[in-house]
Parts: sequence; C-alpha cells; structure tokens
Amino acid sequence: MERERASGADETGGRRAASALAADADVAAQAVDALASFLARAGTVLALTGAGVSTDSGIPDYRDALGEWKRPEPVRIAEFLATEGARRRYWARSLVGWPIFRRARPGGAHRALAHLEALGRVGHLVTQNVDRLHQAAGHRDVTDLHGVLDTVVCLGCGSSRGRDWMQRALLAANPGWGDVAATPAPDGDADLGAVDLDRFRVPQCVGCGGVLKPDVVFFGENVPRERVARVHAALERAGGLLVVGSSLMVWSGYRFVRAAKAAGKPVAVLSLGRTRADTEVDLKLEASCAPVLERVATMAGPAPLSGQRAHPVRPPIG
Ligand SMILES: [Zn+2]
Repeated sequence: MERERASGADETGGRRAASALAADADVAAQAVDALASFLARAGTVLALTGAGVSTDSGIPDYRDALGEWKRPEPVRIAEFLATEGARRRYWARSLVGWPIFRRARPGGAHRALAHLEALGRVGHLVTQNVDRLHQAAGHRDVTDLHGVLDTVVCLGCGSSRGRDWMQRALLAANPGWGDVAATPAPDGDADLGAVDLDRFRVPQCVGCGGVLKPDVVFFGENVPRERVARVHAALERAGGLLVVGSSLMVWSGYRFVRAAKAAGKPVAVLSLGRTRADTEVDLKLEASCAPVLERVATMAGPAPLSGQRAHPVRPPIG
C-alpha cells in the first residue's frame, strides 16, 4: 500500500501552553507505570516509531495537533518523476535543509529504546523516520520503513551514493546556494521563501546520466514488499507492539497495528494527540515520548556489558 495522505494528529512538541505542562507530570508518572506493566506482560515487543521520537532532535514533523498539514504537502513521487521543475524545487530545498538535518543527534526516546533493546524488552524496531537516529543511538535491529535520507539512488542504473556526495555536487553546480538561509522542514526539507529556481541545476548520475532520487519512499510511492515482510516476520516473533510518536495516519505503519490485533497481540501507543488506532489498542498513553521512555528504561535495569545481549523476554504464562 502506498504512503498515503490522510488527516490525523502527530506529536507537535512545544505547542502546548505552560499550564498544561504542569499537569503533564502526573500524566507522565501514570504513563510510566502503565507502560512498564504493559512491557512486563507482553514480553519482548516490536517497536514502531514515527516523527514524535525525532522532534526533540530538531526535526520537525508534518502535522499539527489537529492532524492538519502544517505546511505545503511534500512532493509526490509522480510529480518528482514527471517534471524537471519538481526535481529542481526538491533538490534546492534539500540542498539548504540537508546540513541542518545532518546535524541532528539522537534524543532521549532514541536512547531509551536502544537501552530497552539491549535489555531484550524491545526486539525489532521499525521506524517511519528517515533520519537513522535510532541506529545513531545504538539500536541494532532496525527497519527504515520509508528509507533513509543519507543515501541517493540512480533511477537509471540503480547505483547509489552518499547524500554528502550529492551535497558536494549540488553546491558545485549551484555556487552561492550554500549560504541561503532557510527554516528546517520535515524529512530534510527546508522552506526557502520566494527564490528563482529557473537556473538551479540538478546533478545527474555520473555513470549513466539518470535521475537521482533520495533513497526514501516518497508520498504516493510503495514501501518495498520485502521490507514490509521483514517487519511482519518480526511481529510474529514479538509478544506485542509498542507504537511511539506516531499518529498512525499513514497506512504503511498502521497496518502493523492491524496485524498485531489480528494475531491477538497486545498493542500500546505512546503518542501525543489523537491517533488512527485509539479505539483499537489495548493501551493509549498521551504523553511526551522521551521522559516516559527514559523512566521506563531506567526502571528496567542497567544496560548489559558491551557486546552482551539479553535474551528475548517471554511473557508470563497464563
Ligand atoms: Zn545511473
């Protein structure tokens, strides 16, 4: 199924009034207890993460608390493939947005999930983010459902290169663009304001002259089938599903909630705002991801010695 557009609420971070933050402390304490007991009952869980785990790292998300797009919708695959103008617009914004995106470092939620993985509480992790921050935090078993932004692929010959190479090529072809100021936007995008793109030059594949595309699943594009199959296999091995920081409005992630419920596995969601699965899940926690996960991870115990891995945790019988 395609990565579709739909309405829904993602975590927004920083949008709530200060008075609400005081009440959050109580909510967070309750969420910690509820999540810790969920994990104790479920055994090793599959984790599914969305934009809400990366907003603390300075990577904006797409939607506001009411689920509306905060900004113009991202480019769709058909448009990117069909017109040079769309590719110019994409790469000009990406040229400016990449250095900001590249500087992002893992936050508390990434580190806590990696800690829970080391303890065997979290098994496989599937993320809708393209920032590789889970791996940067030390998480080992990760599926990047929507691909990764740090790699560029040629649609002609299939070769791939690092995004840093593309950045050098973009700057060489467009002198002066490295100094353009912009506001960071989701997925390494940036808001440029009114700029003239007529003379912007998009580098081509050096091998075949083909069109270069970031190795991410664009809106309107299918997630590769084997990637989805890998996650379903991981879900089969898991005792439950823990969703963190995702509104689940996009089918590519929501399908794993449906699969977990169909298999009789418990599902917990830790995410601010409404999600698509609120009425279906066993536990819904409306709290900021990082503080809750950090507390749960600390309570779960110290990390095993480097190089050692905990065995999967089996749920209690009965
Ligand atoms: Zn090529």
